[in-house]
Amino acid sequence: MEEKPAGRRVVLVAVPAQGHISPIMQLAKTLHLKGFSITIAQTKFNYFSPSDDFTDFQFVTIPESLPESDFEDLGPIEFLHKLNKECQVSFKDCLGQLLLQQGNEIACVVYDEFMYFAEAAAKEFKLPNVIFSTTSATAFVCRSAFDKLYANSILTPLKEPKGQQNELVPEFHPLRCKDFPVSHWASLESMMELYRNTVDKRTASSVIINTASCLESSSLSRLQQQLQIPVYPIGPLHLVASASTSLLEENKSCIEWLNKQKKNSVIFVSLGSLALMEINEVIETALGLDSSKQQFLWVIRPGSVRGSEWIENLPKEFSKIISGRGYIVKWAPQKEVLSHPAVGGFWSHCGWNSTLESIGEGVPMICKPFSSDQMVNARYLECVWKIGIQVEGDLDRGAVERAVRRLMVEEEGEGMRKRAISLKEQLRASVISGGSSHNSLEEFVHYMRTL
Ligand code: UDP
Repeated sequence: MEEKPAGRRVVLVAVPAQGHISPIMQLAKTLHLKGFSITIAQTKFNYFSPSDDFTDFQFVTIPESLPESDFEDLGPIEFLHKLNKECQVSFKDCLGQLLLQQGNEIACVVYDEFMYFAEAAAKEFKLPNVIFSTTSATAFVCRSAFDKLYANSILTPLKEPKGQQNELVPEFHPLRCKDFPVSHWASLESMMELYRNTVDKRTASSVIINTASCLESSSLSRLQQQLQIPVYPIGPLHLVASASTSLLEENKSCIEWLNKQKKNSVIFVSLGSLALMEINEVIETALGLDSSKQQFLWVIRPGSVRGSEWIENLPKEFSKIISGRGYIVKWAPQKEVLSHPAVGGFWSHCGWNSTLESIGEGVPMICKPFSSDQMVNARYLECVWKIGIQVEGDLDRGAVERAVRRLMVEEEGEGMRKRAISLKEQLRASVISGGSSHNSLEEFVHYMRTL
């Protein structure tokens, strides 16, 4: 098909959460570098104030009147349901106005899989639409299989027979029932309804996904077969187009602290933008980190300790434990931290971005997933890529100490570090000329130029 002139506009619809804003902004920057004009449509909730990296972009706000408190009161799943309902009509108006402004220069609408309301608006204006998946291909195929697995009683709600949760799910090895991406934030029904919506391709012409075939080629083949529209694995996007995308201010003082530490001596502890910890879990983690005798850099996000604004409600002993070997910040420049030579391991909740960022720097991980796709990622880190140690069950100081020493001190950890470095090289090779993600991106861009 004939290519259209450069400069046509792509409208990207972002989920208002850090783990989604970063990859969609990286995608937008990638497309901009390929000659497209960019409009970012976002909500006023968690509005991303563009940094200097995005001066040429147009930003529009999708009108919605959800109170700020809804996110905390309802939890992410119910909030997303409500947001999708709320934005369904207002995004049509928004897109209609953009079309009036831009003439027929809008090539297509790319929407995050969790902002599925955008498809109806694109369809109404006969604009091609593309789904952007910010989770792994494996998590996508798991979400697609939920209904059938529950109907066949292969999966049961988490509360039910504990023993069964350790069983492998047929055709999903090595995932066990408990590794399936169940959200702890909503009822099973509500979660399944959301999942059905996210995996429904509707009228999408293709799916782009922030992963690489060296990480999950069989899940990608399966996804391709399931969707019957082109699937483009073009990630990890943070290696394709770096940009400043933080909603919170990064505390760079931790880099100076890292500069004073020995090579591979620090374990970096960071649980992403949503995970929460109980006070006793924070104390047990601190005690375990201390007795592991390793230095640690710990991100404790404001609001991430239940019952405390930050760390003010923690018992006094906490500061004493930390003052020896630790350094605490509210938010870190995570990618820079992971690339620092002093960092030898990453204690993570295994969000997909954190997983990609850690592999991209060859840093092995300790996996303590909290919810959703994090369990899938943790299982893959431990059993498929073999660069992670999963801490299962209650978080106590002994388990923390053991996991940290296995990764940071013992031979087992050294093996993981070597494998992590080899995987890093494969991952980095996939985004440069001739690599699989690079080729996928070229194909996708070629397709976009024909629209
Ligand atoms: N992040 C960061 N600084 C921090 C903690 C996290 O920049 O102190 C970033 C991290 O680099 C990642 C994102 O926040 O890109 C978290 O996304 P992820 O998918 O890992 O987890 P989520 O927040 O969605 O649970």
